Amino acid sequence: MKLFNTLTRNVEEFKPNVEGKVNMYTCGPTVYHFAHIGNLRSYIMEDVLEKTLRYAGYDVKRVMNITDVGHLSSDADTGEDKMLKGAKRENKTVMDIAKFYTDAFFADCAKLNIKTPDVVEPATNCIDSFIEMIEKLLEKGYAYQAGENIYFDTSKLQNYYVFGNQNEEELMVGVRDDVTEDTNKKNKNDFVLWFTKSKFEDQALKWDSPWGVGYPGWHIECSCISMKHLGEYMDIHCGGIDNMFPHHTNEIAQSEAYLGHKWCNYWFHVHHLNDQTGKMSKSKGEFLTVSLIESKGYNPLAYRLFCLQSHYRKPLVFSYEALDQATGTYNKLKNRVAVLAKDGAVNEATVAEYKAKFVEAVGNDVNTSMGITLLYDVLKADLDDATKRAIIGSFDEVLGLDLLKEEVVAEPAVDAELEAYVLAKIEERKAAKKEKNFELADAIRAELLEKGVEIKDTREGVVWKLV
Ligand code: AMP
Ligand code: ZN
Repeated sequence: MKLFNTLTRNVEEFKPNVEGKVNMYTCGPTVYHFAHIGNLRSYIMEDVLEKTLRYAGYDVKRVMNITDVGHLSSDADTGEDKMLKGAKRENKTVMDIAKFYTDAFFADCAKLNIKTPDVVEPATNCIDSFIEMIEKLLEKGYAYQAGENIYFDTSKLQNYYVFGNQNEEELMVGVRDDVTEDTNKKNKNDFVLWFTKSKFEDQALKWDSPWGVGYPGWHIECSCISMKHLGEYMDIHCGGIDNMFPHHTNEIAQSEAYLGHKWCNYWFHVHHLNDQTGKMSKSKGEFLTVSLIESKGYNPLAYRLFCLQSHYRKPLVFSYEALDQATGTYNKLKNRVAVLAKDGAVNEATVAEYKAKFVEAVGNDVNTSMGITLLYDVLKADLDDATKRAIIGSFDEVLGLDLLKEEVVAEPAVDAELEAYVLAKIEERKAAKKEKNFELADAIRAELLEKGVEIKDTREGVVWKLV
């Protein structure tokens, strides 16, 4: 398998620390509200990565945290505590909020066929290990106490900006606007490991510590929880691209200072789902959740397909139009599979051959759209139906689109005559464009639109739908 590694900014041959085994960690949700479909894009693509590794024969152990304490609304250790904000909003306790939104997150994941990681650990379960790590960092001289908080001293590191050549200004883009300078910090990028003195007097969750009653900073949880379950060496760490700085940068700083050696070899970052105005967020524009798109009649798996159609290292723009397209593609795909005969002998050698092709395609830096292309190749191939079904079922272990699940999916009825007419017109328009007769090309498009058919030029060719 090949993977792009954010640490080296190269596509690399993936080599785990222990042959045949993969230790993998994913930054989990902050459970103060529903996940939006942007958050879920990250979890879908990370799910595909995990499943591809398993498909390729690796024995994978995957761990995920649940952030139920300590995540402030700014990544720069300032702003309001997100959990407390959620509790106030809904007039509930922080623990009730955490429970409710953790369940809601996994319910959304189930609808999107995202497998639950082998280990899921809430931050509040692990306070003792956080304290232990912080004590060791103090002992080793990597941390200091100031204004009654404990900070990580980034000036002790030779290279703090491990993710590369970006300048500080660029990196700070991930940090929200409401940054107020913390005068206790010795260096600008120092970050809080443990808060005792805080401006949040009403902070709901507090624990005893050697430095007084308080609560952990956000970054420490991922270092501790991953080490607790995966040991001192990790193969792959995943998260959305905004986690790269400061969260993952700080995780690496404290983990490697604590361990005294390199910690994680591959960093997998999923780029954002954007709306028309920029990065999707919970506070701006329509709050797009799985329940919302379901209430509008969309199948969550059409959204999963929408994500799989593009590469995880490219930003993806969401629109209902794009989701309509994906829905059309999804329904057609399901119907093409549904008509395949179920009986007959499966040619196992052919299945194995296609499985190898699939690993080659999707295993090349999680190239999901190549996986989907291969799926169409199977449907078109000169193979018997039973073998096609077996191959498709096998691919679906990774794609997670329920392709073999029996259900009637409504496709708008298109009569064969109209379809033939539209396809002929599309060919005619292609020829016109080739001859640079754009007037004719536009006229053909307009004529089709009058008949209720909209055509669109996409990277995959011309597509059309009834409007
Ligand atoms: P949070 O619940 O805010 O901690 O975020 C959960 C995950 O979603 C993290 O891995 C984020 O990096 C990721 N994420 C946040 N916004 C987006 C977005 N618009 N598109 C894709 N992933 C995102
Ligand atoms: Zn994390």
